[in-house]
Amino acid sequence: MKLCDIQQVVNNFLDVNPLNRVAGWGEVPIYDYPLLGVAAAEDALFSSLKEETAVGPQHCSPAEWLPDAQGVISYFLPFSKKIREANRRQGIASDEWMIGRIQGEEFNNALRDELVNYFAATGYTAISPARDSRFTVINRRSSWSERHIAYIAGLGTFSLSRSLITRCGSAGRLGSVIVNFALTPTNRNYTKQDEYCSNCGACILRCPPLAITEEGKDNAICSAYLDRVLARYRPKYGCGKCQTGVPCEDKIPLAHG
Ligand code: SF4
Ligand code: SF4
Repeated sequence: MKLCDIQQVVNNFLDVNPLNRVAGWGEVPIYDYPLLGVAAAEDALFSSLKEETAVGPQHCSPAEWLPDAQGVISYFLPFSKKIREANRRQGIASDEWMIGRIQGEEFNNALRDELVNYFAATGYTAISPARDSRFTVINRRSSWSERHIAYIAGLGTFSLSRSLITRCGSAGRLGSVIVNFALTPTNRNYTKQDEYCSNCGACILRCPPLAITEEGKDNAICSAYLDRVLARYRPKYGCGKCQTGVPCEDKIPLAHG
């Protein structure tokens, strides 16, 4: 199987799945077509994620999820311009962003399931850890970090705001599927973990609860703020001010390819 065939399956799903559309938005989708990247299951970086300074010892390798794992397909779903633009104003997240955050994640889960079912129908085995009953998040540490997987799969690097900056920017959502067949790994066109971040500091000024400093992001402050937003706007919630109205919103802010 080739990555371009998988890309076609994913693009078709974005076109036809109703979760990628919002009533009243016409043909404007939640997500534009995604970026896909591949990592080999035996990539040494997976074991490094178990270090305390990375994700932690609870993080599982591809083979711990799927014993005959050979590859990991990671994707970045960029939010459409309508969602990004609406959230550029300061303050509380826009309705469009909150819809993208909630319904968009429902779509993301549907895409994870679609890929697992597609590979099963073609005679392979696949699992998406985020959809697996063994998946855990304890003290904000997960057993499968989509951001770190995307980094290993060549999709982009981390940033001051702890998002992942891809060549389509940072405003979007990530997902992944582990498969038991080999695919050519995607080149990592970077050597530093934060290579795509310009350190411009724009996200520091955008953050309503001041969770970001020159040293990085305080996850506890960010999470407490998101909890307050949820308490006020339930079931909608979200923020994303550090991913919109900033130079890394929809591109790499530096002179990379
Ligand atoms: S706004 Fe600037 S400093 Fe913040 S993550 Fe984006 S590029 Fe990095
Ligand atoms: S999501 Fe919002 S609260 Fe959290 S770091 Fe980004 S701007 Fe700050």
